[in-house]
Amino acid sequence: MDFEISEDQRQALDGWTRFIGQEIAPIVRSFHDKAMTREMAHALIRKMVPFGVGAGWLPEDGGGMGLDFLTSGLLFEALAYVSPDVAGLAWVAEGAALKVYSNGSPSIKEAYLPGIMGGELIGCSAISEPGIGSSVREMRTTAVRSGGGYRLNGEKLWISNAAVADFVLVMAKTADQEFSMFLVDREKHGFEVHEIDKLGLNGWPLAQIRFDDVLVSEEYMLGAPGAGLRETMKGFARSRCFVSTLALGIAKAALDASVDYAKQRMQFGKPIAAHQMVQGLLAQMATDFSASQLLVYRALSLMSQGRRCDLEASIAKSFATEAAQRITSSAIQVHGAAGIARDLPLERHFRNARMLTIPDGTTQINQLIIGRYLTGIDAFH
Ligand SMILES: Cc1cc2nc3c(=O)[nH]c(=O)nc-3n(C[C@H](O)[C@H](O)[C@H](O)COP(=O)(O)OP(=O)(O)OC[C@H]3O[C@@H](n4cnc5c(N)ncnc54)[C@H](O)[C@@H]3O)c2cc1C
Repeated sequence: MDFEISEDQRQALDGWTRFIGQEIAPIVRSFHDKAMTREMAHALIRKMVPFGVGAGWLPEDGGGMGLDFLTSGLLFEALAYVSPDVAGLAWVAEGAALKVYSNGSPSIKEAYLPGIMGGELIGCSAISEPGIGSSVREMRTTAVRSGGGYRLNGEKLWISNAAVADFVLVMAKTADQEFSMFLVDREKHGFEVHEIDKLGLNGWPLAQIRFDDVLVSEEYMLGAPGAGLRETMKGFARSRCFVSTLALGIAKAALDASVDYAKQRMQFGKPIAAHQMVQGLLAQMATDFSASQLLVYRALSLMSQGRRCDLEASIAKSFATEAAQRITSSAIQVHGAAGIARDLPLERHFRNARMLTIPDGTTQINQLIIGRYLTGIDAFH
């Protein structure tokens, strides 16, 4: 067991961290609590893709860097430290890019991969609906055969990146218990998007999408009929790891701010860091953070080795996202009333962390996955 990151990873991380400070942080300040525009999202993705963030998982024959998941996770964690909104944007775009690479026909790949690799095309994945969340097999969006293609009808809800995306990978029902994936292009096919007002991660767009008799030709189905849901389920372990890297970035930012503040804030004639109970708070935050980091890195390492890590990803996701809530809440406590003021980032870290226990399997759904591994008993139904 090796807990050290390699020299190559260290160098990649150092260069990336410098770049974030110089090129990303100044842009991020302009949209902290309001959704980034399409132009900003594209400008950010164009800047990040050359560093392997936004499409770095694609192998070289797809135009990507073939970055291993642990290295990629380190880059996302560093980005989330500064902006979980931008990390979310890039991670969702990267997931959609990989699905196009892995499931697209040669003509779809030819049409979309160059734009994705140039940072011109941003994607998203739409599974959840107003009536279904955790229970994806109950989805109602349909794709019905029509001439040489399919007609899509339905609504998708809570779709990350939707408002800035150029294409949506939509999961739709093509027959009873058969769910297929379609690429729907904003310009070519059209879809309606309504942005959602929400608690946190407000720079990262989240929207409702409506498909009203949208006709797509057959080649826009990614993979075989019925293969869409299998692909999505396979991708969940990866999504769980990457949503956890957002939790790590947010938690570390809150922890570092708390340590700094505790050393300079004076009460009862000494820094509050010199009071044992404040040290207790900091120690608990650091312990939660370290445990989260180890769990997330373990799952990412397994994925990098090409091994299944469904159990490890669910353990990492459920622990790291719940821990990020505890850590950001304690960070407010360490700051006292200053912690709830909008001019410090603590209340924003807290709201951002609160968002992460829900996507890619709620904490309860991940616990059910862990329980099923432990007992062999499916307690979902
Ligand atoms: C920030 C964010 C980004 C998102 N991005 C996307 C995206 O890009 N694409 C997309 O398709 N979706 C996305 N989602 C939606 C997300 O996948 C769903 O919110 C999630 O699957 C939960 O579904 P739900 O909200 O409908 O809750 P529900 O499934 O209705 O669950 C409500 C509550 O019931 C509990 N529950 C449900 N079933 C069980 C059970 N069997 N046993 C015990 N408890 C249960 C849940 O844990 C939860 O506490 C995003 C959500 C968020 C918050």
